[in-house]
Amino acid sequence: MSFGSPYFTLPEFTYHKPKTLREALELLEKYGDEAKVMAGGVGLIPFMKERLISPTHVIDIKEIAELKKLEYKKGEGLTIGATITFSELEKYQLLKEKYRALYQAVKLASDNIIRNRATLIGNICEAIPWVDGPIPLIAYGAEVEIKSLDEVRRTPVADFIKGPVEIDLKPGEIVTSIHLPDIPEEAKSGFLKFNTGSEFALLNIAAYLLITAKKKDVRLVYGAISSKPARALEAEKILLRDGDLNALISMAAIKASEELEVISDVLASEDYRRHLIKILTMKLLKELVEEV
Ligand SMILES: Cc1cc2nc3c(=O)[nH]c(=O)nc-3n(C[C@H](O)[C@H](O)[C@H](O)COP(=O)(O)OP(=O)(O)OC[C@H]3O[C@@H](n4cnc5c(N)ncnc54)[C@H](O)[C@@H]3O)c2cc1C
Repeated sequence: MSFGSPYFTLPEFTYHKPKTLREALELLEKYGDEAKVMAGGVGLIPFMKERLISPTHVIDIKEIAELKKLEYKKGEGLTIGATITFSELEKYQLLKEKYRALYQAVKLASDNIIRNRATLIGNICEAIPWVDGPIPLIAYGAEVEIKSLDEVRRTPVADFIKGPVEIDLKPGEIVTSIHLPDIPEEAKSGFLKFNTGSEFALLNIAAYLLITAKKKDVRLVYGAISSKPARALEAEKILLRDGDLNALISMAAIKASEELEVISDVLASEDYRRHLIKILTMKLLKELVEEV
């Protein structure tokens, strides 16, 4: 990732490697907004090289055992700790079987070298509009757990990401884990990403679909189309109606392409992105309903 910066070196900083969460929180409390947490460093280090951020204290959390948590409990859901990498998630069989949209997003993110270092929580904390991680997480209604020395709080991923590179995190706080609710056996989910040979997605989309005789629940989430991930709420409502599912899918795809806020940028025009939204929404939903 390069922004054309003339710098090849990092700005000066003090490196800390705490062994416990308590130690990390004390450092964050002490150094406030002069400190930055480092997980994989895949995003942080290039940003520092480019002088987009210059923390004077970097707190490396990789050796904190409490943050290396990956655990599913029936009825409660899945907990993903702050140092769990994309590669660890990719190898976790339960993710493939139960949280398929997240599994597909993880698998499609960059290459093995990046996936071996990058964490899912680092991915959402970066809050870059085109990253993949937040999209399926929002579709599942996931929440982040945030700790400081005085407080533990939880917030939905959808609210945690406030805008481009802007998150709901105060100095002194750290994201310790992500919680995905348990989902019914009949629920289906999937993820698609459209890019043109670089890591920058032109569109990424996740769908969560629960359509049974007793209950309907649908979420459609889109990334890389504006400043933060967005749900197509009107399109979701169409899918909750009774009627021929294929016809509803076509109507929902058109509605999603119309209702969302979409930008034009150097990668794609607004019109092109709206076209992609329609085509990929249709493709993803059809694949999900045809799944056996
Ligand atoms: C070549 C390349 C290709 C890429 N391709 C893709 C792609 O295809 N899809 C995709 O989604 N992403 C992609 N990325 C982005 C990459 O996935 C993210 O940079 C990475 O996930 C960040 O995770 P990390 O653990 O390295 O975070 P870090 O670099 O360590 O941290 C990133 C930011 O999050 C903060 N942070 C990290 N952990 C915490 C925490 N626990 N609490 C509070 N703050 C925290 C840091 O302070 C920093 O601001 C790519 C990046 C590169 C360089």
